Amino acid sequence: MEAPFSFETRAGYLDTMAAEQVDLLVIGGGVTGAGIARDAAMRGIRTALVDKGDFGSGTSSRSSRLIHGGLRYLEHGHLRLVFEASRERRILRKIAPHLVWPRSFLFPVHKGGRVPRWKVAAGLWLYDLLALFRNVRRHETLGKQAMLRAEPGLRSKGLKGGARYYDAQCDDARLALANVRDAARHGALVANYVQVDQLESADERTRGARVTDLVTGEQHAIRALVVVNATGPWSDELRASEGERATLHCTKGSHVVVSRRRMGNHEALLLTSPIDGRVMFMIPWGTLTYIGTTETECEQRPDEVRADADDVIYLLRSINAYFPEARLTFDDVLATWAGVRPLLRKAESEDPNAVSREHTILESGTGLVSIVGGKLTTYRKMAAQAVDVVSRRLRALDGRPLPPRALTDRRPLPGGEMQDLEVLINSTEAEGLPRAVATHLVHTYGSETPAVTRLAQSDPAMADPVVDGHPTLWAELVHAIRREMTITLGDLLIRRTHLFYAAPAQALERAPDIAQLAVREMGWDEARRAAELDAYKYEVERSLAFRQDLWGTEP
Ligand SMILES: Cc1cc2nc3c(=O)[nH]c(=O)nc-3n(C[C@H](O)[C@H](O)[C@H](O)COP(=O)(O)OP(=O)(O)OC[C@H]3O[C@@H](n4cnc5c(N)ncnc54)[C@H](O)[C@@H]3O)c2cc1C
Repeated sequence: MEAPFSFETRAGYLDTMAAEQVDLLVIGGGVTGAGIARDAAMRGIRTALVDKGDFGSGTSSRSSRLIHGGLRYLEHGHLRLVFEASRERRILRKIAPHLVWPRSFLFPVHKGGRVPRWKVAAGLWLYDLLALFRNVRRHETLGKQAMLRAEPGLRSKGLKGGARYYDAQCDDARLALANVRDAARHGALVANYVQVDQLESADERTRGARVTDLVTGEQHAIRALVVVNATGPWSDELRASEGERATLHCTKGSHVVVSRRRMGNHEALLLTSPIDGRVMFMIPWGTLTYIGTTETECEQRPDEVRADADDVIYLLRSINAYFPEARLTFDDVLATWAGVRPLLRKAESEDPNAVSREHTILESGTGLVSIVGGKLTTYRKMAAQAVDVVSRRLRALDGRPLPPRALTDRRPLPGGEMQDLEVLINSTEAEGLPRAVATHLVHTYGSETPAVTRLAQSDPAMADPVVDGHPTLWAELVHAIRREMTITLGDLLIRRTHLFYAAPAQALERAPDIAQLAVREMGWDEARRAAELDAYKYEVERSLAFRQDLWGTEP
């Protein structure tokens, strides 16, 4: 029997896309395209979605994983953006409480720091106000001693105090995936690893695309009444093929992952880098802490970016200034990731930090709809606006009535059916799983956790952790293959689970066993197994390639 959302379903979806005309083709399965496909399918629009990589494998799995009002946008006076983002934060916590969870942040202020204490206090009042005082909790100001009690490792010299405020953290890759799955549940045809090579037109209007299935190498034509370009930092490439001008100003942002025990931090922190005064974050993730982000001009293609030595040095030096006992060095960096911000271009001369996080929807002369800019936090609203444009276009084309707006703000995403995660954790623990594993499962799958625990109960080996000391179970890998459209080893290790970031040595030693599971589940032959292992090793090497930069030897 075919698994519900797997490599087999993907093949079926792709056949249907190639055989039947759809109303809407969405190019790009990052959070924006996934949100558009979900919204459109919920409005009854016949929708297809393709991505040349895995869902969320672009910027949407390389963010700082924050669903936030955006405290730093207050400095640039973007009050409307903060207001909208705070509203979206509230909605996403409601529709996907397992993927978007509250997180407290400390904002320490040191003598001579870029942002004085009074400004922090005033900014946080405004932040709470723009959230209509409906954030998790209101901020509180802290004196020096209270700050040191909260974070004993923080540099006490020059510390004047600071504040604690609240935002939300998320699993970005799984948020994109949840939107894709929900789109499919509502009838969308979706396929990862399908690259758009060329847009196709009829009567000088964009009416579909020629695509290559990167798994089989086969080529197909997908016919669509409307095409949406949701390719994030790649969007200028498709627009250029239509003769349209560039709209993006891309910047690169890198993160490093270190052991939390090594840092000793208890909470997340917002810091201003002593190097250049930029806002940066230090955020707990299980037993780890990730630190980011840099913001530099992006000179490579989005596929080629990685954290380089300069990025890592900037992040470590900034953190060492705040946590002097940590004395972080290159050897402490367990993994890195880097992504490209698809920012809307303003005046050429502007500093990248001041470039707009807002988005825009553009229509080319041939009718290609491009959604450009934005952020993870506001994807749902951006998607609704894009589908409004699509709906109007479809009405103009064939006279169909405008569909009512989709209730994407009320209908839970898959796994979000239950708000009280504590109840779920308790019932999962009652099935005999350690509390840490139960907590991990519920924060990953929410109300879908029983689908994983059933697998774990069906075979004792499935209930074993993949890597000793880390809560990810073998059952999760099987679940990811059968129900989360896993295609590659990287999908399994990087985005369905996060063993790439969180397991010792990025789970490289376990990779052959995991590939063997894929052989059994997906029927990979020897050549495919070897190629997948090589590809995963390459990802690991790239993630640590910053170490070679200083000696000029690239992996
Ligand atoms: C370092 C960093 C930190 C960030 N932190 C935050 C944060 O904490 N909070 C927040 O709200 N926002 C954050 N952002 C912004 C946010 O991550 C992005 O705005 C968002 O993920 C963009 O999503 P997207 O779907 O538009 O683009 P992407 O996720 O990049 O998706 C575009 C997709 O298009 C696909 N594609 C491209 N070309 C083709 C083609 N020819 N055929 C088929 N598919 C194609 C790509 O494979 C890709 O998956 C951050 C960004 C960066 C870089």
